[in-house]
Amino acid sequence: MPAFRKVLEGFKHFKETTYRQNTELFRILAAKQAPKAMMIACCDSRVDPAIITNADPGDLFILRNVANIVPPRASPNNTHHGTSAALEFAVFALQVDYIIVMGHAGCGGIRALMSDDPEIGPGREFIYPWMQIAQPARHRTLRLHGTESFDEQVRFCEQESIKVSLDNLMSFPWVRERVQAGTLKLEGLYFDIAAGTLYRYDPRRDRFAVVAGEEQDAEAPAARETAEPA
Ligand SMILES: [Zn+2]
Repeated sequence: MPAFRKVLEGFKHFKETTYRQNTELFRILAAKQAPKAMMIACCDSRVDPAIITNADPGDLFILRNVANIVPPRASPNNTHHGTSAALEFAVFALQVDYIIVMGHAGCGGIRALMSDDPEIGPGREFIYPWMQIAQPARHRTLRLHGTESFDEQVRFCEQESIKVSLDNLMSFPWVRERVQAGTLKLEGLYFDIAAGTLYRYDPRRDRFAVVAGEEQDAEAPAARETAEPA
């Protein structure tokens, strides 16, 4: 089936099933949205936050961009700040309780960041400059895992870049103030597509630990050595 045909057929199915079975919910949502969590995820077609978390319409305020990156706060100027605008709306208008950054395995954006191949790296007009926001993750990856295979470095960097986004969230004063006051919480998640496993970032131990899909308390494969070398 052609891709756009599948979109239209999919809507018909949604209308006959989910929509028809939840008319009261959609009636309420038509008047107002009040999600209590913002999710920042990658554009990647395999990591739909609503599907992965079994969310209902209205549960999640979702921002998707290449590699789930949050840029550091920059002064408003004549450039466009789509991610920052979504953050601002989530914090001020929706007053969310959580901002969740969800990365994933096999991320093309992180692969571009780690690669010297001009086809996917420096030769790209928009992806490469965008991915430079996550340079601290690349540097840490090369410092700690520079001798490992490229695929292993990419996996480690995917997790490190989530931490960069969490750090950058704190560069927005209105995020930092709410986090320090305890009215806003920041969380990092990492989804392994092949294993169907979700990991949650534990800042106290600086590691990603399994949430569901495998035995409890296992660590993400590439996150065993996240401590800085002495
Ligand atoms: Zn991605």
